[in-house]
Amino acid sequence: MPVARLRPISRHIAAVDLHGRFQVAVFLVRHETGLLLVDAGFPGWHYAILTAAESLPQPNRITDIVLTHAHVDHIGGAAFIARHCDARILTSEPEKAFVQGKSLSHAANGLLPRLVLAVNHWTQGRRVDAIRVDETVTDGDVVHGLRVIAVPGHTPGQIALWHERDEVLLCADALFNVNGAIGYDPVPGMTSNRAGARASLVRLAKLGCKDVAPSHGPAILGDGTERILRFLGDAVV
Ligand SMILES: [Zn+2]
Repeated sequence: MPVARLRPISRHIAAVDLHGRFQVAVFLVRHETGLLLVDAGFPGWHYAILTAAESLPQPNRITDIVLTHAHVDHIGGAAFIARHCDARILTSEPEKAFVQGKSLSHAANGLLPRLVLAVNHWTQGRRVDAIRVDETVTDGDVVHGLRVIAVPGHTPGQIALWHERDEVLLCADALFNVNGAIGYDPVPGMTSNRAGARASLVRLAKLGCKDVAPSHGPAILGDGTERILRFLGDAVV
């Protein structure tokens, strides 16, 4: 199990860095009556997330778990944390079936993603406790101050979350920031639709966010949009 480190991002948001191979971060977002958790790490990482939440000032019960997409490193601890905290689980309608166990290979575009996602489902999916989604959200919805932004491509129903008061964009896997470089998912075949991923990143760039926090690697603070635009200018899809 990884050791979690809390990393403040803004007034209401703290990242929980889970020091695994993929520099996974989940996010605790403070609201009036508790905490909203964005994503839940790999299977078995729930205690690290719960310990991080409990170290924050009260009220610190996780009331909501928003899953940005169905990859195993984002949903692994969700079922346990939901049971432990009596929290509701939310995701987008197009992602719901995949969060609840359907293989993402069914919706992949191209042979490599279909193969990689099928193998991933067979080897990793079985490690995830069954998840029941309580509620779905759609583009434009606001949940405890987080505006939902549909960013399909990496998966069919991935969502990003824009914290309007803190002006921070939690961009999920629409953008990675690992090993000192920003870009798309570095694992070949994990992205269902590369053209869709690029279109979503263009959409995020148009929001003009200064502070962007990906789910892999450190936050990009101050020059988020410039960095994304520079990457899009260079990126070959
Ligand atoms: Zn992912």
